[in-house]
Amino acid sequence: MYLVDTHTHIYAEEFDADRDEMIRRATEAGVGAFCLPNIDIESIDRLYALCDQYPGTCFPMMGLHPTSVDSGYKKDLDIVRTELEKRKYIAIGEIGIDLYWDKTYLQEQVEAFEEQLRWSIDRNLPVAIHSREAFPYVFESLYKIGIDKLRGVFHSFGGSREELEEALRCPGFSLGINGVITYKKATFRDYLSLAPIERIVLETDAPYLAPVPYRGKRNEPAYLTAIVQKLAEVYQLSEETIAEKTTENARRLFGICS
Ligand SMILES: [Zn+2]
Repeated sequence: MYLVDTHTHIYAEEFDADRDEMIRRATEAGVGAFCLPNIDIESIDRLYALCDQYPGTCFPMMGLHPTSVDSGYKKDLDIVRTELEKRKYIAIGEIGIDLYWDKTYLQEQVEAFEEQLRWSIDRNLPVAIHSREAFPYVFESLYKIGIDKLRGVFHSFGGSREELEEALRCPGFSLGINGVITYKKATFRDYLSLAPIERIVLETDAPYLAPVPYRGKRNEPAYLTAIVQKLAEVYQLSEETIAEKTTENARRLFGICS
């Protein structure tokens, strides 16, 4: 089995004590590639350090996370844009809108999101979208900037049936499925199979959102297999097929081959 973790923050300090061990466990579980979304200005050096240590295995994205957007966001975006010139990236991410924690900077979040969407079109890169209690705003921005020119992934998808249908109408977009699908209250499991398997990619969002039976603990990419198992049930396909299809989808979307 060869799996791709399309959204994982394994450069985070939560892994400082055992990062190489954790990556070895992931490799043993079949996880062969890690897509690393940036968060903010502080996370950039950690992200680069890990990608330099594991070239061809860890792939960087660059972007400013919506919960890191405040009144001073333009200065941070300038730094992110400068970084974009320095390296090869697989995506702009993670970007989006988050109204769960705080609605104070909604306007700024929308502006930062739309600016980074434009960059993705200019550079012909996919986007990793974080949307929390914000799908109407996210879709509005996607259509405003140009849905036909954009592609990417709705990371940590767990939306309503209507939101799923709306997401599927965005032709270049996939759904990133993580440990949430294993939670008892995850109602989206009941209609997820409306999405063709060709539109699904795997992610952990480590260190967050560990799947059952690790829920509440630190998440790590080796646990991707629990998500494969659950998707196999939902789609009535073998785990092998889920692995093959989602890996193919991830490679196509992010342009990674290894
Ligand atoms: Zn994330």
